[in-house]
Amino acid sequence: MKPRMRTIIVGGGVMGASLAWALARSGHEVELFEQGAIPNPQASSTDEHRLIRHPYGDRAGYARMIDDAFAAWDLMWRDLGQTLYAPTGTLALTGGGAEWAVRSATTLAALGRPMVELPVAELPQRFPMLDAKGVEHAFWLDTGGTLFAQDIVAALATHLATHLATQAGVRLHANTPVRSVDLEHGRIVTAAGAAHAADMVVVAAGAWVGRLLPAMQRRLVPSRQVVIYFHLPDEQRAAWSKGPMVIHKTGDVGLYMVPPMQGRGLKVGEHSFSRSGDPEGDREAGEDEIRPLLQSCRNLFHGFDRWRTDRVKACFYTVTDDERFVVEKPAARGWVMSPCSGHGFKFAALMGLELARTIASERDAAQHARWAAGLEGETADG
Ligand SMILES: Cc1cc2nc3c(=O)[nH]c(=O)nc-3n(C[C@H](O)[C@H](O)[C@H](O)COP(=O)(O)OP(=O)(O)OC[C@H]3O[C@@H](n4cnc5c(N)ncnc54)[C@H](O)[C@@H]3O)c2cc1C
Repeated sequence: MKPRMRTIIVGGGVMGASLAWALARSGHEVELFEQGAIPNPQASSTDEHRLIRHPYGDRAGYARMIDDAFAAWDLMWRDLGQTLYAPTGTLALTGGGAEWAVRSATTLAALGRPMVELPVAELPQRFPMLDAKGVEHAFWLDTGGTLFAQDIVAALATHLATHLATQAGVRLHANTPVRSVDLEHGRIVTAAGAAHAADMVVVAAGAWVGRLLPAMQRRLVPSRQVVIYFHLPDEQRAAWSKGPMVIHKTGDVGLYMVPPMQGRGLKVGEHSFSRSGDPEGDREAGEDEIRPLLQSCRNLFHGFDRWRTDRVKACFYTVTDDERFVVEKPAARGWVMSPCSGHGFKFAALMGLELARTIASERDAAQHARWAAGLEGETADG
């Protein structure tokens, strides 16, 4: 264990804030710079909810990490004094020849956490809220639920600014864009021209990472994604508020549905990547972005003709070619922390704790990168 270290974090989304929490609770000094408010409404982490679930196709590395992810959230809830999570169970459906649900079931069975296969003909009985046209396979798992994303970032910011500020020496700089970073020497310069130095700099800048680190631009690609929040008739909302989350894959396309737990909205999004857009651009969603999602909803949800669009939100994934996370140390005094590709939030508390441990110890950076990429126990193309 190294003595008390000083780390600069660039980015106050869930990754930067979780790392700050993890470092500070171990007694290390942290200075965090965020270009907007914390939470920043433009950040990937700022939405009502994000899902956590065990099924991960054949990605055994990530499936195996889910229990650790839940344990890391439990530790965070203890520190925050509140639980910002609601269990929903996981309903995994596939159609159009997609194999994701079957592969997930095979992977999880090998890990000792079997999913229950539901006969498709029985779906309408068990889940009367579904029409499930074209569904070929259905699997159920009791675990999984929704993390109240923006409330988590806000609660972390308060915790960092109060308890941990006095105990450990945390300084949060909201509305302070960073103009440049020097990962070799552990330095940053803010847009206003102020220079800061530390033992380590971590760039957790979400979809903006390529602006600070042009060398990462080709690997970490901003991908504009649209989600729709719906108003439902009271009886439908009451049914959905008991769950489940629904993940529906057809071919390469994937729709997910977040049920309206604890007063939050009901949301539907599509997981296929646009691999385009600029996080600094306008966030208005166009008709052509919304139409395919509405069509998928029409096939899947019973009574969809009575749903009304409440609001549409355009957010950004930061995607890699293989959808694996990039948590790497490209220079002596600097890390890039980019767990995204549209599935990173669930691991934020774990990613924060583990990176804090590696930074504050002699743990091997390459091994850490491999673990974060979900490659432990997998082949590189697995
Ligand atoms: C629509 C959508 C649905 C998703 N669904 C799920 C899901 O169900 N489950 C799941 O696990 N994951 C999901 N994800 C992925 C998850 O939200 C992301 O992996 C996670 O939020 C990324 O967090 P982050 O901190 O890396 O990025 P961000 O939250 O974007 O934070 C980066 C921060 O860095 C700041 N910043 C950037 N540049 C600078 C600079 N130069 N100076 C100072 N500050 C800077 C930004 O303002 C921003 O606040 C989803 C993402 C989206 C967009």
